[in-house]
Amino acid sequence: MRFIALALALGLAAPAAAQDRPDWAIVIHGGAGVIERESMTAETEAAYRAALDAAVTRGRDVLDTGGSALDAVEAVIRGMEDDAMFNAGRGAVFTAAGRNELDSSIMDGETMNAGAVAGVTNVRHPISLARAVMENSRHVMLQGEGAETFAEEQALELVDPAFFFTERRWQALEGALEAQGLPVPARPEGAPEPEEVDHTLLIRDALEHRFGTVGVVAMDREGHIAAGTSTGGMTAKRWGRVGDSPVIGAGTYADERCGVSATGSGEYFIRLSVAARICMEVEIADRGAEDVPAIGQTAADMVIHGPLTDMGGDGGVIVLTSDGRPAWSFNTAGMYRASQVAGEDPVIAIYGDED
Ligand code: ASP
Repeated sequence: MRFIALALALGLAAPAAAQDRPDWAIVIHGGAGVIERESMTAETEAAYRAALDAAVTRGRDVLDTGGSALDAVEAVIRGMEDDAMFNAGRGAVFTAAGRNELDSSIMDGETMNAGAVAGVTNVRHPISLARAVMENSRHVMLQGEGAETFAEEQALELVDPAFFFTERRWQALEGALEAQGLPVPARPEGAPEPEEVDHTLLIRDALEHRFGTVGVVAMDREGHIAAGTSTGGMTAKRWGRVGDSPVIGAGTYADERCGVSATGSGEYFIRLSVAARICMEVEIADRGAEDVPAIGQTAADMVIHGPLTDMGGDGGVIVLTSDGRPAWSFNTAGMYRASQVAGEDPVIAIYGDED
C-alpha cells in the first residue's frame, strides 16, 4: 500500500488498467485491401482463416508458456513469412525488375529498442534479421547488401532468391506491368516452370494491389508489449522503393503502453507516422484525468478514419494497449486479422462487417 502511494506521488503509476489486464494478448494482421465476400471462393476464404488460426495458435503457445512478447512476435511472423498466402518472405510480391525485396521491422516496447531491414533478397526470415539488428548491432535500420552481409555474419538462414518465387505473385506482376505499359522482365533464374494459377486469386490480386503484409502485436505475462511487421511491399515497385513496414513509427511502433503494426499504402503511412501517432494518442489519453475506455480502438479509428482517409491513403492497423485489449481499424473493405486474449477464444475475421 505504502509503495502504491509512493509510486502515485512520484508519478510512477502503471499505465491505466494494467492491474486487471489479462495474462497475455496478441493481435495479428495479414494485410488489408479490397477483400470482399463476392470475390472470394469458399476454399480461399477457408485457407486464409486456417492460416490466421495457425498464426494465432503459434503466438498463444509462446505467450501461454511464459515466452516474451518479442519471442511471440518473431515466432508468428516467421511462420507467416513461410506461408506463401501472405506477401512476406515466401510469397512476397515482385518488384518491376522481377525481384523480391523484403522489408521488416520489430520494436520492443519495454526498452523502446528497434531493428529494421529493407530490400533484402536472400534472407529467409527478415523479421529475425530485424531482431538481430536490434539486439546485435549499434544501428536501427540496415538495407540491401549490407543487411545481407550482416545476416550472414549473424548466421541467419540464407536462401537462393528463387526460394521466394510463387507463380501467383509472378502473374500478378505481369498483369501490373502490362497495365502500366512497362516491360515484363525475364522469369527469375531458378524459378520453376510456369504453371496454372487460380484465376479468382489473380483477379483479386489485381484489385487489391497491396495485400498480404503481415504484422503482430503481443503483450506477455510481464505486461511488456512488442510489435513487428514484414512485407514484400507493393507489386511492381520501382527504384528501390521502401514502404512503411520497416519504418519505425510508420509501420511498426511499441512503447510501454501501446503497440501498433500497419498495412496499406505505405507512402501515406510514412508521411503520417501512423503507428507512432496512434500510440501518442494513447499516451495523451492515458496521462489525462479521465479514464478513456477502449483507448486503443479510439486512437486507431481517429487516425485511420481521420488523417489517413482525408489524405487518400488506404489500409489499416492492429493495436494492443497495456490493458491487454486488442483493437483494429481499417478503411478498406477488409483486413485479414486475428486476436486472442488469455482465457478467451481466438477471434478470426476477414471482412469489414465481421465482429
Ligand atoms: N504497407 C506495405 C508497403 O507499403 C504494403 C502493405 O501493407 O500491403 O510496403
